[in-house]
Amino acid sequence: MKRIASYHVHTTWCDGHDSPEAMVRAAIEQNMTDIGFSAHAMWPFASEWHLSPASYGDYAAEIRSLKEKYGAEIRISRGFEADYLEGASAPDRATYSPFSPDYLIGSVHYVPAPAVFGKKSKKVEPWCVDAPAAEVARGLERAFGGDAKKAVSAYWGRVREMIEGADFDIIGHIDIPRKRNGELRFFSETESWYRREIKNTVKAAAHSGKIMEINTGAIARGIRDMIYPSLEFLNLAFEAGVPITINSDSHATDSLLCAYDQARLLAFNAGYRSASFLDDCGWTSAPLDSALAD
Ligand SMILES: [Zn+2]
Ligand SMILES: [Zn+2]
Repeated sequence: MKRIASYHVHTTWCDGHDSPEAMVRAAIEQNMTDIGFSAHAMWPFASEWHLSPASYGDYAAEIRSLKEKYGAEIRISRGFEADYLEGASAPDRATYSPFSPDYLIGSVHYVPAPAVFGKKSKKVEPWCVDAPAAEVARGLERAFGGDAKKAVSAYWGRVREMIEGADFDIIGHIDIPRKRNGELRFFSETESWYRREIKNTVKAAAHSGKIMEINTGAIARGIRDMIYPSLEFLNLAFEAGVPITINSDSHATDSLLCAYDQARLLAFNAGYRSASFLDDCGWTSAPLDSALAD
């Protein structure tokens, strides 16, 4: 059976525009076989775009009721996109188990400033890598004195820490610093230090057995051709045997399958012929859309 899924979907429970039910209906209309909800979560903290700790139970209950209502038409699963913030919050199954998630996506959105960066006594806010370009640039200056190599290397270090230390399923938008690099040009992906970082991270991912997502979310938000990860990253991941899933990181009904053809083609070009899907017994592998294999 052909499987069309997205396990990375946001709704009005966090920073999405549509309700979970509207997203389920749209997914059925678009012939999707699977939809997984992944509200932004940073237990036990919150922000304007994260679930508030008081809402976790209600969020979980709403997705459960949708499973009952639409279960015959589409496979619905319940997850969280859980933040990794060193020493404060981690995408750990044990932490989220009271809300019985089917899976967890682990994402790094914030990179803490190095403690020694000249302002030891002053609290410096972490660098938010997933923000509008001006904010990314401001944060880079504030937290890392504008040293992009240091900042981006620190990002990769946190990603590896998360992969190696936390218990979760899917690694979210793994090379997200590229998102604003088109506008800001703050680092070069061809420099040896950057290539070393991605090689080391692929190694960590392969060793962990975790699934890496191909994420098309930036395209729906107007950043042309930006799929995470890069083809270079994906080539290394394929060689190392890292399993993949294709996700839209959708925040609205009209972007549930945004740029999926492009994502499948990218996966195919890197050598992948199958992707991971969630079944009752856990993650299994099924062919990528065969239409692109010709
Ligand atoms: Zn994210
Ligand atoms: Zn997301």
